[in-house]
Amino acid sequence: MNATTSLSSDAITAAAPAGFDYLIVGAGFAGSVLAERLANAGHRILVVEKRSHIAGNAYDHYDDAGVLVHPYGPHIFHTNSEDIFDYLSRFTAWRPYEHRVLASVDGQQLPIPINLDTINQLYGLSLTAFEVENFFQTVAETVDPVKTSEDVVVNRIGRELYNKFFRGYTRKQWGLDPSELDASVTARVPTRTNRDDRYFSDKFQAMPLHGYTRMFARMLDHPNIKLMLNTDYREVQDLFPWKHMIYTGPVDAFFDHRHGKLPYRSIRFEHTTVQQAQYQDVGTVNYPNDHAYTRTTEFKHITGQVHPATSIVREYPCADGDPYYPIPRPANAALYKLYEADAEAMDNVTFVGRLATYRYYNMDQVVGQSLATFKRLQEAHAASPPKGEERVMAPAHSPPSVATAV
Ligand SMILES: Cc1cc2nc3c(=O)[nH]c(=O)nc-3n(C[C@H](O)[C@H](O)[C@H](O)COP(=O)(O)OP(=O)(O)OC[C@H]3O[C@@H](n4cnc5c(N)ncnc54)[C@H](O)[C@@H]3O)c2cc1C
Repeated sequence: MNATTSLSSDAITAAAPAGFDYLIVGAGFAGSVLAERLANAGHRILVVEKRSHIAGNAYDHYDDAGVLVHPYGPHIFHTNSEDIFDYLSRFTAWRPYEHRVLASVDGQQLPIPINLDTINQLYGLSLTAFEVENFFQTVAETVDPVKTSEDVVVNRIGRELYNKFFRGYTRKQWGLDPSELDASVTARVPTRTNRDDRYFSDKFQAMPLHGYTRMFARMLDHPNIKLMLNTDYREVQDLFPWKHMIYTGPVDAFFDHRHGKLPYRSIRFEHTTVQQAQYQDVGTVNYPNDHAYTRTTEFKHITGQVHPATSIVREYPCADGDPYYPIPRPANAALYKLYEADAEAMDNVTFVGRLATYRYYNMDQVVGQSLATFKRLQEAHAASPPKGEERVMAPAHSPPSVATAV
């Protein structure tokens, strides 16, 4: 099957008169990994995607100038899990790529995460790794207990560096002051005393050689998988028999927002092509203190494409629009718990992925969560094989922790 072809409901009814074992909502990482695994295990799968394309937010395509871009913002693949890397390697070759980011601060572009060179260039010093460790200890302000994003950073590198590199960026990104956000947000960002200027330090860092969309097309190219694009699952869920649903959209939308809307942060992406070979020195430049956008990314650094023009994207975080980032605050976690309890009570639906489990997951974590979910579904299937059209595939939803998934 051509994975990018949308099927009509008549075609699907004809193709699968016995119905489907799984109705999978969403063709992003969660939906596509589960479709591939389950189809490979002999199940009949219908994937329904409301957008006009596969690959979810990782979707990439060639823009009008012929430059490979990521319409939903830059997606850099990195993982420490050999299993996850090996699994995806069945569907793509890779281009080694280590992402580098500079932050525009006080008229200079400086490495972020903060490292030895950041401090030396910012203050015109020539500290050694040992001395910079002492420097951080001198400027750090002890905060106890560490509760918020602000506490994490101030506790580690003091208020001045926090104000220059973190406060403005976080306020733009989340529309909230770091003092109002969970510690988890900035806990992800390391501080280094060496000169390592890579944004990520994972063992595997690479980009799919021919892009994400090609990788997804190969994943979904299986005779047991039918794909409907441009279709909300609610339009078709009653048209065909299916036994079990895998849902990867926003969990609050599934339950018609019965407990209220879960807060998400959205982004407006401004894509531009520039008639010059290179626009900036590295893949991404952050603007913590200037402009309404948070960062500018130049795709050719990431994809390695050679082209006389170059395409960039600027990101303007906003409150309204497609849901991208679950907002990590205690009140939102409490609201999610209500939806999680509803999800667990559904025996014929499994909730997987970043939006369905309201978690700030990277791509590799979603792949790990999906592979672990597949294993559980197979175990449940073996323990209780389906009879006729009964909806019996149902393990109660219990998303794996990232630690067990990867
Ligand atoms: C701006 C940005 C940058 C990112 N950068 C990185 C990065 O550099 N590295 C990294 O590892 N991760 C990154 N991520 C995270 C990455 O995008 C996610 O981890 C991953 O895409 C999640 O996959 P998913 O399948 O859970 O969700 P999605 O990719 O969102 O897929 C869910 C799909 O379900 C579909 N859907 C929803 N509701 C319905 C419905 N009612 N009917 C039919 N279909 C429906 C949606 O259209 C969507 O295609 C980034 C995310 C964002 C927003």
